[in-house]
Amino acid sequence: MAQPMCPKCERKIFEIKELSPKNSKWKYNFVQCATCGCVVGVVDYYNLGALIHRLASKMNIDLEAD
Ligand SMILES: [Zn+2]
Repeated sequence: MAQPMCPKCERKIFEIKELSPKNSKWKYNFVQCATCGCVVGVVDYYNLGALIHRLASKMNIDLEAD
């Protein structure tokens, strides 16, 4: 299976960097090459899946039920 590779330096180790872009009210997690910092993706700062499960749990909602 192919491994993700930095398009700039061709290394294969990535890291998350928390950042608020200029003129943004929100923080994001940038996925970047751990060697050269080339950004290969941006994801929400909050893990929405985890937040939904926590909220459902507090509201006693079983998300697995049909
Ligand atoms: Zn790189």
